[in-house]
Amino acid sequence: MTLHIQTPLLESRALPRRDGQHIWMKMEALQPPGSFKIRGIGYACQLYQQRGARRFISSSGGNAGIAVAYAGRHLGVPVVVVVPESTTERARQLIRQESAELIVHGSSWQEANELAQSMLGEGDAFLHPFDDPLLWQGHASMIDEVAASGVQPDAVVLSVGGGGLLCGVIEGLQRNGWSSVPVVAVETRGADSLHQSLQQGERITLPGISSIATSLGARQVCEQSLAMASRHPLQSLVVTDRQALHACERFLDDHRLLVEPACGATLAVAYAQHEALAGYRNILLIVCGGVTASYQQLQQWQASAQ
Ligand SMILES: *Cc1c(COP(=O)(O)O)cnc(C)c1O
Repeated sequence: MTLHIQTPLLESRALPRRDGQHIWMKMEALQPPGSFKIRGIGYACQLYQQRGARRFISSSGGNAGIAVAYAGRHLGVPVVVVVPESTTERARQLIRQESAELIVHGSSWQEANELAQSMLGEGDAFLHPFDDPLLWQGHASMIDEVAASGVQPDAVVLSVGGGGLLCGVIEGLQRNGWSSVPVVAVETRGADSLHQSLQQGERITLPGISSIATSLGARQVCEQSLAMASRHPLQSLVVTDRQALHACERFLDDHRLLVEPACGATLAVAYAQHEALAGYRNILLIVCGGVTASYQQLQQWQASAQ
């Protein structure tokens, strides 16, 4: 039994493409808790439960916290999610809706996370949003599904926050014999911790996050993502918030699915027919999903985005 579902792999005829190109979309936005995160988090939660965990603790007010809450409910394990005051009412609602205990504490994620860590006792498992090898193993299952479908991508486009998705997709490519299939790693400006780290040749910490793509807002990527970037063919791109938002809007029209700007970043590269994609025939987009976006929120962002 897995907690994630097998998602559709759809070919888009609506997204712009060059002659002879095929654009494939792995529809992770259709995962029940709204994003790919349930793959890795569901896998990790199941293993932690087998190893005796009796409670799951998370400090993410975003898709990771929602995935932990969803996993706990399905496994019959109580969940505590500690989030900062800045967490939106919508995210709080979604966490409560999964019957998790929600604790609001502190003005930043750091403070919420400190409280979460201080609560950890015997029988508790802490679920990190991106920096855990179990998460990467779980995320890799999306590439297993692509391989099983018979589609062979020439490049994979995905969004990068803390780098968990990146590590998982590369693990999936490698375990399916696709070690030479390049990854195009996309961030928004203001959340570009991978891009800046690659440019400077060392893992940097952003002073803050200034992008609306909050799910990409890790001030520092996990170490493994830089290790992966040096071992696997990878191109790092940065798009603006406005480009990511515009891609969300177009995607809503084209494929009737509302995704958040973190996912729009990947779509923006396709909509721009970015030259990084020029040489590939079969391009796989990871439509990673996200529940922070609502139609109204999208319009508010439009009014304010740079
Ligand atoms: C978490 C998340 C990301 C970024 O994933 P990382 O593993 O942190 O790099 C991108 N998009 C969505 C919708 C997410 O929930």
